[in-house]
Amino acid sequence: MFIRKKIWPRTLSDFLSMTFILTIVPILYWFELWVVLPAIHEYGSLLYIINFLFGNFIMVNIIGNFTYIILCDTSTRRDIMSISAANTKNGWRLCASCETLAPPRSWHCPICNICILKRDHHCIFTGCCIGHYNHRYFIMFLLYLFVATTYGFCYNNMFLWSRIHFEFPMSIIKIIFPLAVFIFGFDGSINQFYLLLYIVSAVGMLYTAVLCIYHFYLVFNGNVANENNKNICIYNLGWKQNIKEVLGERWYLAWLLPYINSQLPHNGVIWDTLSSWQYTYSKSK
Ligand SMILES: [Zn+2]
Ligand SMILES: [Zn+2]
Repeated sequence: MFIRKKIWPRTLSDFLSMTFILTIVPILYWFELWVVLPAIHEYGSLLYIINFLFGNFIMVNIIGNFTYIILCDTSTRRDIMSISAANTKNGWRLCASCETLAPPRSWHCPICNICILKRDHHCIFTGCCIGHYNHRYFIMFLLYLFVATTYGFCYNNMFLWSRIHFEFPMSIIKIIFPLAVFIFGFDGSINQFYLLLYIVSAVGMLYTAVLCIYHFYLVFNGNVANENNKNICIYNLGWKQNIKEVLGERWYLAWLLPYINSQLPHNGVIWDTLSSWQYTYSKSK
């Protein structure tokens, strides 16, 4: 993996979004595994151990994928471009900002100030662009965040509603408008803090569900957000190959952990369309 040199967020919104993720994820992790879990399952019981291990497995994936997204350099800076292929007829273009030729499917990011290989979008939560080489980690980061918030939300329901005395309509107001606890009074109990975390996990679950549906739809169609917006769909190689284009040749293992090596079929510079891919495939057979 090529390591990105400047990983510090470049804008205020990137900085604030990153700070939010780096704060809320450890708090929710502590809440689920050290507060909720011992309250539901007896410490040391089989169900406790299974859930504790599963919770840590999810957390390792969230941290690992997040780190890899940030560290992985997916810009045009990482490769010395093969000049023989650099022709505008092959889809190359001149990037006025980088003052260099940039390969097909790359787009310039004004925040990162560099062209990104197969650029999907600029992610404010990681403060960097999602492109060819870190797409896998981004997709898995999203998926594991969704699993974590859904899993947490189910357990939070069991935990919270046995502790909180439900009164209508005040409890509803506090759930829908979490900041209302400051208006209607903070009764000082830790339950209100737990209620806030409950709401965060519920909102997180809905938000990551929408993002997962959108981004997995793009992956299955061999597209990235940029191309989808511009109605470019020439890189669709069939759903199975499209998955390999993101997760790599060992896609069936790659989703398990970010540390598993899985070679990507393309180098981010030279691409296949369906016809050229079928030609390559038939020749290799
Ligand atoms: Zn550029
Ligand atoms: Zn960017």
